[in-house]
Amino acid sequence: MAAGNDGAEHVMTNGTEGEVAADPRLDAQWDRIRNRLQTELGEGEYRSWLRQACVGGLDGEELTLLLPTHFLRDWVRGQHGSRLSAAWQAENPAVRRVDVRVGTITPPPPAGDAATATSTTLATGNGNAPNGIPTFARPAARSADAAGRGSDIAASLDPRFTFANFVVGKPNEFAYACARRVAEQPACHGFNPLFLYGGVGLGKTHLMHAIAWDLPARAGGAGASVAYMSAEKFMYRFIGAIRTQATMEFKEQLRGVDVLMIDDLQFLIGKDGTQEEFFHTFNALVDAGKQIVVSADKSPSDLSGIEDRLRTRLGCGMVADLHATTFELRMSILEAKALAAVVAVPGKVLEFLAHKITTNVRELEGALNRLIAHANLFNRKITLETTQEVLHDILKAHDRRVTIDEIQRKVAEHYNIRLTDMASPRRARNVARPRQVAMFLAKQLTSRSLPEIGRKFGNRDHTTVMHAVSRIGELMAHDASFADDVDLLRRMLEA
Ligand code: ADP
Ligand code: MG
Repeated sequence: MAAGNDGAEHVMTNGTEGEVAADPRLDAQWDRIRNRLQTELGEGEYRSWLRQACVGGLDGEELTLLLPTHFLRDWVRGQHGSRLSAAWQAENPAVRRVDVRVGTITPPPPAGDAATATSTTLATGNGNAPNGIPTFARPAARSADAAGRGSDIAASLDPRFTFANFVVGKPNEFAYACARRVAEQPACHGFNPLFLYGGVGLGKTHLMHAIAWDLPARAGGAGASVAYMSAEKFMYRFIGAIRTQATMEFKEQLRGVDVLMIDDLQFLIGKDGTQEEFFHTFNALVDAGKQIVVSADKSPSDLSGIEDRLRTRLGCGMVADLHATTFELRMSILEAKALAAVVAVPGKVLEFLAHKITTNVRELEGALNRLIAHANLFNRKITLETTQEVLHDILKAHDRRVTIDEIQRKVAEHYNIRLTDMASPRRARNVARPRQVAMFLAKQLTSRSLPEIGRKFGNRDHTTVMHAVSRIGELMAHDASFADDVDLLRRMLEA
C-alpha cells in the first residue's frame, strides 16, 4: 500500500475537484473483490467503511481507490490497506499497490474533447498547471499526487522512492552517488545529463524520484520545478500536442522546468519525430543550465535505434549503471523492508527469498509484500513452510532448472577432477569427496529422487546418495570453509 501524501489530495479532472472518470474493467474486478470482502469482513464492517469506495483508476502498477471523505480514507488506509492490496494483487496481477484517496467518479467526458480528456491536473495546492501539462511535480509540497486515472496522463512521484529508502550496496553505489550529487547540485559540470541504466527492477526509477524529492529541500524550500515522465508519456504528450496544435505550449512548458527527467528512454527507439523533439528540448535545457536525468535499460552506446547525435548528447554527461544485485544487497533490501512491516519475518525466510528471487528487486519486494499481506489477512505467522506455500507460483517461476549434468560439470571443474570420475568406481578421497558434493547439490537443487541421482553417478545405490547427502551436511556444519565452498558452488549453479 502506497503511503499517501498528506497535502491536498483531491484528484481533479477537467478542473473539477475530486472527480475522475471510471474504467469498466476495473469496476468489474472491484465488484468481485467487494463481494469477497463483504463475506470476509461481515456486512456491518463492510457497509461502514468500504461500501462507498470506488475505483479511481490504474496508473502503472498503482491502483487508486476513492472514498468521499478524509476520515473514511484514513480509516480504510489504516485498517484495510494491506487487505485491499492483497485482494487486488490476487484479482489483477498488474496491480502492485493500492492507494486510497479522497475523490469521486464522473462520467467520461464527451468524445472529441481530447484536450481536456487527457489533461489531468494535479492538486498541488498551489494552483498549478491550468494548461494540463503532465506531471509538474512540486515535491517541495510533497504533493505530487497521481492523477486518478489513465496511464496516458501523468506519472507521479512515489513518496516511498527516496534516498533514505534506497539500500546502497556494491552494485548500485556508483549510480546512487551520482544521483545524490545531482540532487545536491543540479546541472553541475560533468553530471549533465545524468544517464542511469540497468536491467528491470534495479532501482532506476527509484533513484530518479529520489532526486526529485531531494531537490527542493536543498533549494531552501523554494521548490525547483521538476518534470518527470516516462519516455512513452513524453511521446504521447508530444503527439497529443501536435494533434491539438499546442506544440508551442508544450515546448515552452518543458523548457521552463529546472529539471527534466525522462524514464525508460528505450521507448523512444524508432520514434524519430519524438526523438527529434526530445533532442531539441534536451539541447535547449542544457544550454539554459538545466539538469536532465535520463534512464534506460542499456548504455547510450548500446541503445540501437537512437539517432547518433542524440546518443552522443546522452553520453556526454555522467553515465552510471545499476548492476545486477548480489545476495548481500538483496538481503539488505529485504531486511530494510521487513523492518517496516507489522509482522515479524524470520531471517531464514529473508535468506530463502534472497536466494530464490535473484533477478529483480521489484519481484523480491512483491514476494515479501505478498507474504506479509497473507500473514496479516489470515493472522498467521510467517515461516519457511508458509512462504513456500504462499509464494509457490513465484518460486516455481524462479526455480531455475539445474540439471545433474550441470552440477557434475561445475563440481568437477571446481575440484579439478575429470568429469568421468563422477560416474567412476574410484574411491580415492580426492574424487570421492567432490562426487559426494555433487550428489548433495543434486539433491538440493533438483527434484530428482535418490535412486535417480544414484543412476547418474555410475549406477550407485540410493543409500550411497543418502549417505553422501548426510556426510556433506555434517562436514558443512563442522567446517566453515568447506561450507562456504559448497555454498559458492550452489550459488554459481543457481545464478
Ligand atoms: P527500475 O526503474 O530500474 O525498473 P524501480 O526503481 O522501479 O526499478 O525499482 C523496483 C522496485 O524495487 C521499487 O519498488 C524500488 O523501490 C525497489 N528497489 C530497487 N532497488 C532498491 C534499493 N537499492 N533499495 C530499496 N529498494 C529498491
Ligand atoms: Mg523504472
